[in-house]
Amino acid sequence: MQLIRRSANRRLRAFGAVLITTLGLTTAVAVTPATAAASACLTGTLAFDHLDAEAGTSKPLRTQVARNANWELWGRTGSGTATRLTAGITGASDGRFTACHTGSLAEAYVRFRSSSTSMWRVVKAANNTTDYTFDSARRTNVSGTLDLGTVKVPSTLQRAWKVVDTLNVLYWKRANPSSSCWTARQSDGRCDQITFVWDPKVADGGYWDYPNTNYVFLGATMPDSKHLILHEAGHWLQWQLYGRGFPVVEGCNPHYIEKHSSESCAWTEGFADAVAAYALGDYRYVYDNGSSYSFENDASTPGWDDGDTVQGRVGSSLLDLWAPGGPDGGNWNRTIALMTRHFSQDFREYFTEDRPAAGLSTTGAAERILAGHTIWY
Ligand SMILES: [Zn+2]
Repeated sequence: MQLIRRSANRRLRAFGAVLITTLGLTTAVAVTPATAAASACLTGTLAFDHLDAEAGTSKPLRTQVARNANWELWGRTGSGTATRLTAGITGASDGRFTACHTGSLAEAYVRFRSSSTSMWRVVKAANNTTDYTFDSARRTNVSGTLDLGTVKVPSTLQRAWKVVDTLNVLYWKRANPSSSCWTARQSDGRCDQITFVWDPKVADGGYWDYPNTNYVFLGATMPDSKHLILHEAGHWLQWQLYGRGFPVVEGCNPHYIEKHSSESCAWTEGFADAVAAYALGDYRYVYDNGSSYSFENDASTPGWDDGDTVQGRVGSSLLDLWAPGGPDGGNWNRTIALMTRHFSQDFREYFTEDRPAAGLSTTGAAERILAGHTIWY
């Protein structure tokens, strides 16, 4: 993919075109050669520091580029006030932005937003659904290309951009072959947007607000864990896969990875746990304080309850079904396709009714995976 993009880039530059990158897909858009009027461009890389819970309880401060994040070029040509001139997203792999206007600018700056196209956003509050913004340094008398270097998200806002960047890893694995939306239930231009509410002054959160706003609410430090972000996104994704439907969940407060809750709780929480681990390519849950809990389990694992009312038993079964070399072909794509057509109230229905309907195995390796996690049907 990278090689194709590089060669396309070279070829297109020769013909005076630019590349527009949309959420990882690269397409070429021809532009008028800049001969009559010079362009004014601000370029750079958007990055943020974050406390890395996935690295352990010390949560080391790490720097990450912010990928597919919205930017706007603001500026003025004369002595008036700055207006929004154009918009785009940072690079899907490198967080770079190239914000250009045809003609020179008396003043120019880049405004960054805590959102990605109209597919996901981080807003300030349930009753103030504006995303966070901040501006780069203002430059005057801009003509030609001015490199702003690495632009850092202000430290007070960095967790908002961590959510924006982290949601990419789920979006890229969403296994929707028919549209740019989160699921194949929707077609291009009619996508539902996932909204996260995060306020650095509000400690409460860590839930998906169904069936009210259907927003995810995160407390102040919760974005430190990518697993937590993606677990909550996983609840929203299941609701989307079911066409804005969701199992009736009971007996779910509280719920623990290794303990009995209920069939419906273990199914929905186990699925959300599996979404986070699958998106990140591991086999655990990480809390926002940096502690983590492995999903490795069998009949002899100390402290674990048995059966399909235990979310860790369900989540680990799903991950093993989707694992490389596993019975589902090495990924979750066939389960995503299944869920787009079949609603499952619990894991038993998913496994015993909906997998056969979708042509997925329930015997042999699949049966042994469940048995290894103390689930027998
Ligand atoms: Zn949950």
